[in-house]
Amino acid sequence: MKMITITIDGFSSCGKSTMAKSLARELGYIYIDSGAMYRAVTLFCLEQGLVVNGEINRSKLRKSLKDIKITFERNPQNNQVETYLNGVCVEQKIRSMAVSNLVSPVATIDFVREELVRQQQAMGTKKGIVMDGRDIGTTVFPDAELKIYVTASAEIRAQRRYSELTSKGQDADYEAILKNVQERDYIDMHREVSPLRQAEDALHLDNSELSIEQQNDWLLEQFNRVVELTS
Ligand code: C5P
Repeated sequence: MKMITITIDGFSSCGKSTMAKSLARELGYIYIDSGAMYRAVTLFCLEQGLVVNGEINRSKLRKSLKDIKITFERNPQNNQVETYLNGVCVEQKIRSMAVSNLVSPVATIDFVREELVRQQQAMGTKKGIVMDGRDIGTTVFPDAELKIYVTASAEIRAQRRYSELTSKGQDADYEAILKNVQERDYIDMHREVSPLRQAEDALHLDNSELSIEQQNDWLLEQFNRVVELTS
């Protein structure tokens, strides 16, 4: 069957990765969480002392960029793809509030975006990929055959994130999560380089009131329609 490129962009915590993962599994495609790559660079900044009083030392980061190697590996125990930073699994660490609070400022830095976009494009040269993020349909794969733009209200997204953390037994503060979600939305939409926006040819999905099953069915329908149209 013909392989295509699928992009899923949208706000933080609106279930992009859940839908991208499940579609990739169903189709046997590669799944790439581009947000995890920005999070890994952010973790690197925090661990290497490149953040002073909340400010990122850009010149040091620029010099260190060549020392940041991000890879993805499947964990055979839970069958999930996990993020590695310089050979160390950082899947848990990159989801911490410390990283969440700093990742959007890091993602505004032009040379960080240039490097990560280059790596993301290299991962998709053979198609058969589902990538989620903010600029995947607009900048990384502007020629993708299927583009989805997902939205849901900030309150619903904060509630989902809160439930996800508490179900894993982690401490969570709903108000702090809501504030983080709103701040990241603002920065992501207003940055100079590749701001979050719906690509002209993207399909809009508001999943505020949809169950995961309904969302997966809708997505598969769109996939089948596009494959039929393009073959
Ligand atoms: O998807 P996730 O919420 O984990 O992404 C973390 C942050 O990384 C986002 O808030 C955004 O600032 C940034 N990001 C981005 N471009 C992408 C993916 C993520 O700027 N393609």
